[in-house]
Amino acid sequence: MAVSPELQYTISKTASLSGTSLHTGEKVTLKLHPAAADHGIKFRRKDLQDEPTIDAKIENLKMVERATTIGEGAVRVHTVEHVLGALWAMGVDNAVVEMDANEPPIGDGSAQAYVDLIKKAGVTAQEEPRKFFDVRDTMHVESKTGALLILLPDDKFRISCTQAGPNNRFAQFLSVEVTPAVFEREIAPARTFVFYEDVKPLMDKNLIKGGSLENAIVVRGESVLSKEPLRFPDEFVRHKILDIIGDLALVGRRIRGHVVAVKPGHAANADLDRLITREQKRRSAVAAPRTIPSGDGGLDTDQVMQILPHRFPFLMVDRIISFETETKCVGVKTVTINEPFFQGHFPGHPVMPGVMQVEAMAQVASILLFKLAKTTSRIGYFMSADEVKFRKPVLPGDTIFIHAELTKSRGERLAKAKCHCVVNDAIVSEAELMFTFLDK
Ligand SMILES: [Zn+2]
Repeated sequence: MAVSPELQYTISKTASLSGTSLHTGEKVTLKLHPAAADHGIKFRRKDLQDEPTIDAKIENLKMVERATTIGEGAVRVHTVEHVLGALWAMGVDNAVVEMDANEPPIGDGSAQAYVDLIKKAGVTAQEEPRKFFDVRDTMHVESKTGALLILLPDDKFRISCTQAGPNNRFAQFLSVEVTPAVFEREIAPARTFVFYEDVKPLMDKNLIKGGSLENAIVVRGESVLSKEPLRFPDEFVRHKILDIIGDLALVGRRIRGHVVAVKPGHAANADLDRLITREQKRRSAVAAPRTIPSGDGGLDTDQVMQILPHRFPFLMVDRIISFETETKCVGVKTVTINEPFFQGHFPGHPVMPGVMQVEAMAQVASILLFKLAKTTSRIGYFMSADEVKFRKPVLPGDTIFIHAELTKSRGERLAKAKCHCVVNDAIVSEAELMFTFLDK
């Protein structure tokens, strides 16, 4: 099944599968139904009154003990990670997963049965483009149990994972680019495994009623107990990668990035989901509307242009909103997608160049200098920029508040200014600038 990486997909027709739930031991029938673009993946409890649905979203995560449980209100579905991993990795963005129990069939403990089901149903491209989360900066989550997940920029979705059992037994490593073909061949057949020392407490908690050597590998000491022999010498790390894919599907966007995972688990995977979701929200947040004073308190665009010689596309301040003292002021610049620099920086991933923020700081500082000098008959030249730091990306739709303060003015020819840019109450960049003045 070749899938276009840019379009959303759903399944072509309804397909169903029956089996046993792992944790409750009940019989369950699971049906995959096609769904519209932007629907995402939702679970439907056919066995409950009104057949409630649950969005497969991190906001609905309820439990991460051994398996991933999502829920809305009092309704729950358990162990969603294998079916979600299969749907996501095989390219399905939109589907309804209907079940007549609170958990999908465990099958043989792998995602093989779901891959077969998706292939039986077929996949169909939809009109809408896929939504992506592009990793721009390194992000990571760490847990007390030793799990560490790092997300690095990459133009593909890759996972590099290490797995190790108690006392570092069965330490394994694998790195893959997640594509439907790789998933089907390398990841989907890898089965759930448990270490014997972990099984007894689970049985005591009544958590694995449907569990047997049919649907999990049990590791006791150095021996591996399972119905059929290991499918890969490193089957455990492959299963960990399956769980990561399934848990990351809760982000609801396709990740373009490289996940480096050390001893991952559902809890750490969920933490990474939350971190990505927070970052995505921050990126799509429209700057809160603010009343920007005009008149005596500052300078309007016209007045700014009387002072500064800069013009389109190089005027980087829309307005001065306030002068605190003679040596301190705040300018504002609304960044729109129409800024010429977004055409090349970068197509598809618009980020305001840091040097343009430094230019904006320099222009606001120049306004202070011209005001102090009470003349515009001279031109200020940028001499140096020190302590320049770019802390966060500035995106189309952001409003930048540019703070400038003159710290030193040596005679009439040299001046220093401390500046920083603020977006949504966070400093996005800062610099110390030096200027010299020459007659026009
Ligand atoms: Zn699993």
